Formats: sequence, structure tokens, C-alpha cells
Amino acid sequence: MAVPFNEFSAFSPNHTMDDISASLYNALPLIQHSSARFDEQLASARLSRTEFFSELAPLFEEKGYTKQYAVCLVHRHFLLEEGERMVANNKSSAPTRDKSDNIIPERWLKTGEPFEYRVIDDVNPLSPPPSVDFFAKFKSVLDRFAIDVLGICAIPRDELPPGYWLLETQGIGERELLTNRVPFASDVKSTFHSSWVMEKGGTVLKYCYFPMHGCQVQCT
Ligand SMILES: [Zn+2]
Repeated sequence: MAVPFNEFSAFSPNHTMDDISASLYNALPLIQHSSARFDEQLASARLSRTEFFSELAPLFEEKGYTKQYAVCLVHRHFLLEEGERMVANNKSSAPTRDKSDNIIPERWLKTGEPFEYRVIDDVNPLSPPPSVDFFAKFKSVLDRFAIDVLGICAIPRDELPPGYWLLETQGIGERELLTNRVPFASDVKSTFHSSWVMEKGGTVLKYCYFPMHGCQVQCT
């Protein structure tokens, strides 16, 4: 059973942080720019992605977050109008002005401000957001290596079968993003890894989670 919505804010003051404005959201990079910047910053820090994620993984373990939260490349797909937010409902994600209580943050900047949301349902029930302490430590690791393109995202509750990952593609609507399970393929063109699960054991991430990004239409 879902926890009553009015109990959600008690989990963490983080939930009360303001949404970012549409203009700030619109200033977020597209995935290909965010991915390139991540690689540049890693090169400056003289770290591979694997090495960098090894620095982050212990924090997720310490908090018991390895199955709840993943690291994501902060990016946008569509431009928002003031008052709109990107909200995921099952597989479809689109801008909306809906401010219903059953819409909760799903992705956060390293500072803890939410920038994308989802509708709570039976598949994605209510769960507490990352703690304020977690965000402080997450940001300090990023700052130590001068990485500024990463954020935190919630991991969907319905587990991916082995050999599958999630692929974001353009939906039917003009500003609609679809996220589907697809079999792992190493030769997907025009795609980018966009989030990573931190593995148990203190090592890296295992695979890219909502990764392979199929937003060619919006990303060109
Ligand atoms: Zn994306």
C-alpha cells in the first residue's frame, strides 16, 4: 500500500526545495553536450568513468541507496514554458502544469533541487527522497573532481530483466519522451549513457540504466 502523500514531506526537508524555474530547466544541456562535458571533466581529473564511479559507490552503499538511486547526467529534452514541469507517467514523460500531490521528484541536481518528476502509482510507489546529508556528500565528491554535470535519479521499482536496459526515445507527442525496456545492444547509434547504477561492493556502476538515449530528433 502506498504511504499517504502527506507523510512524504516528513521524510526529508529536501522535498520542500523549490522546483527549478522553466528558464533554469531550459538552460540544462542536451544529452550529447552533457556527455561530452562529463568526458572533458573526467579527462581534466585524470580519471576514467569507472575510476570516478568507484569514488562515488561507497556513498550509495553507506546510505543503502544502491537499489533506490542512480547517478544521472543532468540534461533536458524539451523546452518548458513557465509553470511547466517534466513529469513521467509510466513510460511516457511530458511537460505538464499539473501540481497534484501524487507527483513527486524523480531527478535532482547535485544541490538537491528536483528538476524532473513522476506520478506515483502501483509500479512506482512512494519512496523517501535522498537525504540532505547524502546530497552534501555527493556534491563534495563531485566538487573534489570538478564534475558539474551529474545529478541523482530514482531507480524504477520494476526490475529490468538481465540483458535489458532502458532506452529513451521520442514519443508520439511533440514534447513526449518514451522510456522502454530494450535488449542490450552495443551498436546503438546516436545514443549516450545517461545514468548508472552503483554496484554493491564498492565498485563502480554495473550498467547504464536509462541509458542509451534515443533522442536523436531532439538532440540534433
Ligand atoms: Zn534523457
